Amino acid sequence: MSLGEFDLIETFFWRRPGQGPHRAVVGNGDDCAVIAPAPGMQLAVSTDTMVEGRHFLSTVSPARLGHKALAVNLSDLAACGAAPLAFTLALTLPRVDEAWLKGFAKGLLDLADEHDCELIGGDTTAGPLAIGITVMGEVPAGQALLRSGAQVGDDLWVSGHPGEARLALDAFRGSLHPGLGTEAFEATRLAMERPDPRVALGVGLRGLATSAIDVSDGLLGDLGHVLRRSRVGVALSLDELPVSPWLAARSPDERLNCILAGGDDYELLFTAPPAQRERVTQLGAELGLVLSRIGQIEAEPGLRLWRGASAGASEGRQAVPNRWASFDHFKGAA
Ligand SMILES: [Mg+2]
Repeated sequence: MSLGEFDLIETFFWRRPGQGPHRAVVGNGDDCAVIAPAPGMQLAVSTDTMVEGRHFLSTVSPARLGHKALAVNLSDLAACGAAPLAFTLALTLPRVDEAWLKGFAKGLLDLADEHDCELIGGDTTAGPLAIGITVMGEVPAGQALLRSGAQVGDDLWVSGHPGEARLALDAFRGSLHPGLGTEAFEATRLAMERPDPRVALGVGLRGLATSAIDVSDGLLGDLGHVLRRSRVGVALSLDELPVSPWLAARSPDERLNCILAGGDDYELLFTAPPAQRERVTQLGAELGLVLSRIGQIEAEPGLRLWRGASAGASEGRQAVPNRWASFDHFKGAA
């Protein structure tokens, strides 16, 4: 069959009534979907495109690819404290492969159902494999988390264990010596191919965090966006970085490179006043999510890395020069 023979979106992706979330006022079958945010809510909208070879490897299973394509978009909603509402899908396919489409649709729609996010429109084209998703969420008016809100004296926090996706990518590239054992490879590969968007954390941080961003390009690079937009600097404690068992087994250089400059993590990096430490810790416990306090926002622009003292403490700390590539992002920040 060819792409033009029938509507692929309708065949593989539309849900029957009762099968998934339904909140479009007008959905399948008209020229546009029509949706409305609930009274008092604002729409948060984000788009992400993934292209084979650039954003994912051809070895990924279709179900994991479907999951990740939506996950990276939900992660942007999470960074803004928005709850998922609906999404559209633009799929460019080299050919029609029914088994691939079924697997992709399952991974995509399972995650959509988990987050109550309705597919309200889509389009398919023939061409090199690419997936474009536009996601819409809602957030109470004026409460969206922004990159520009970090305040001097705030704690800097990160969720989960950034760096695992980069470790898996390096293993795929064959650049790890020694290589990863099977267990470490499969676990970190899961982090790379099937990230968990931190949606509940983002919603829980409304009114608690002063700024937030999701880690997609590397912790230091994304932190740079927050510092620039907030016109502040940061003292970051390397001793407080969360280290997963898989990363703990690597050399210090490799470990820090994965955590600080890895990317594709989809963890949240956020700032909150010290007075909120207990609430942040409690939120992490409620969500079963590791939240690590890794630094403190300072008035002096730029990034300062320290060892030998906990975040915010100054006694006994030693400066560590920044050797990580994504420091480029800080150019112009000072
Ligand atoms: Mg983002």
